[in-house]
Amino acid sequence: MILAERIAQNLTALGFVALGAATAWEWYRYRGKAQGRLALSLVFLAIVAALARVQDLLGLSGVAGTLVGLVTILAFEASGYFVLMFRDAFLPLSPRARRAANALLVVTCVIGLADITLLSNAGRDVATVAAFELIFAWVVFTGEPIVRFWLASRNLPNVQKARMRALSFGFAGLIAILVFDVFGGSAVQSPTAIIATQLIALAMVPVIYASFAPPSFLRGLWRMGEAAELRAAIQDLLIFSATRQDLAEKATGWARRLLGAQGAFIVDSEGAIVASSGIEDAEVAETMAARAAAPEVGIAAPRPGRGAAIVALLHLTEGIGFLGVTAGPFTPIFGSDEASQLQGYASSVTAGLERVRVTERLAAIEENKTQFLNLASHELRGPLTVVRGYVSMLEGGLLGDLNDRGRRAVPVISAKVLEMNALIEQMIEAARLEEGALMLRPEPADLRSVVSAAVDAARPLVEDKHQIQFKCPERPVQVRVDGERIKTIVSNLVGNAVKYSPAGGPVEIELASRGGIARVSVRDHGLGIAKEDMPILFTRFGRVATPETDHLPGTGLGLYLGRQLARLHGGEITVESDPGRGSIFTLHLPVSEPSRAASRQEPSSIQVS
Ligand code: ADP
Repeated sequence: MILAERIAQNLTALGFVALGAATAWEWYRYRGKAQGRLALSLVFLAIVAALARVQDLLGLSGVAGTLVGLVTILAFEASGYFVLMFRDAFLPLSPRARRAANALLVVTCVIGLADITLLSNAGRDVATVAAFELIFAWVVFTGEPIVRFWLASRNLPNVQKARMRALSFGFAGLIAILVFDVFGGSAVQSPTAIIATQLIALAMVPVIYASFAPPSFLRGLWRMGEAAELRAAIQDLLIFSATRQDLAEKATGWARRLLGAQGAFIVDSEGAIVASSGIEDAEVAETMAARAAAPEVGIAAPRPGRGAAIVALLHLTEGIGFLGVTAGPFTPIFGSDEASQLQGYASSVTAGLERVRVTERLAAIEENKTQFLNLASHELRGPLTVVRGYVSMLEGGLLGDLNDRGRRAVPVISAKVLEMNALIEQMIEAARLEEGALMLRPEPADLRSVVSAAVDAARPLVEDKHQIQFKCPERPVQVRVDGERIKTIVSNLVGNAVKYSPAGGPVEIELASRGGIARVSVRDHGLGIAKEDMPILFTRFGRVATPETDHLPGTGLGLYLGRQLARLHGGEITVESDPGRGSIFTLHLPVSEPSRAASRQEPSSIQVS
């Protein structure tokens, strides 16, 4: 039994020495004021445990024994006192309470000193009273913070809550052992009781350790309840925040909740505060000034009387920004757990900020396109009208006779002016669409004649190498559309079919109506479109850049306008393509009621140009 007792005592002492060393290391890494005090408390506790073993093993007596006894008592009281000071680091004591605590410490140390030296032969009663006072002081020093920690833990996020409770529980366990040792009477002396109390004390080591450096599996376990909330927060940040400001504000709010921090802030690469929550600008400045420059995540104690702070870096395109959180009354312990959590969160915030930056930049580009459309189209229209007037006067001979070369040039100028006019009209139409000023003039029409007119309008573009084929049903296809706009859509599709099949070949236009939907498909046997290029086809100014298409003229507005106009009609434009073999663009439009009855109509006539 004696051996078992010895083993239990040695193990416990070893456990407390390891605990002291671990807290000291944790403090060395992060240097927080609160950590420092907790580390001191546990280092003193380790000294007490180690000296008890030294005394036991060496059986010191005389001056050496007195000295070891004295140091043990002082270290013991200091371990309790620093628990109270740890509490003071984030829940400051009133000056009176602090004075009282200091007085109690001094009195207790004096009593301890007297107990060991002067009173060592003074009889049992005096020794008991002295021992009682020493333990009383330790219980006061640690008992008050234990209750405080427990109360403070109630409103904290899970991990911090569990850590605070572990701390409370660990010290409460030690108090319970002490009280049992003092008041347990003879039962305490039995080997079983000694082994049991030693093992319980040993069990408190991992509990206290978990309070300042919880292993990741424990953190994961504690945080499990919050995982869904965290995911939602990050999704919210990454996807839904529209502006940088909005995102930064949300991010600071979430950082506080996530870490249970008092305040959180984001500072940009220029040092300007982008957003802050629960913290004054002046304190942000202090925290940034105290931030250690080198580490990825640094803990800084901004100034005496203020809690710890963690600052993580945001690697933004424009430079390094910072995300910081500061401790407050109820968030005392910032350690490696919070630091790594903040760092992970900072990466998400960086991604979110970058996304918003790109989105804002894209929005600015889109805005520029709109401005360009507006400006160019309206500014070009006036001069072009004048040029057109003069060209038609030239054509009509109103400006006098031209020589042969002049006469040959006029039709070319006229055709080019018409081309330019069509381009400008396209730009004006796109600008109208952007401004929401595009008004349709829908009228009942037979889609066959609209499409036929569009095909005819496109015919002048066609050279010999292309053959235009147009199939349409015998019966009317009744629609309610803005005829001019539909004509524009179809002639643009036909124009594209010709333009993007430079080697020539048939261009087949087919009108069919089925199931209440009329479809105008335009098929060519030209270049085709690669799958990865599809997404840009219908965007403003979207053109596919390949060696085969680079030299072909165009604005990239036709399909964009076509699709928007089709949608305004309740329809759509779709595309299928086989790269190198050709494409089919199809305009879908709802048919109006009368022709729905004759819903199945197959094309019957074919015109070949
Ligand atoms: P534009 O022809 O003026 O460039 P569009 O908006 O009409 O503009 O067309 C956008 C892009 O889609 C074109 O630049 C071209 O790359 C591609 N495209 C359109 N029609 C075809 C087609 N029939 N075959 C191959 N590519 C096409």
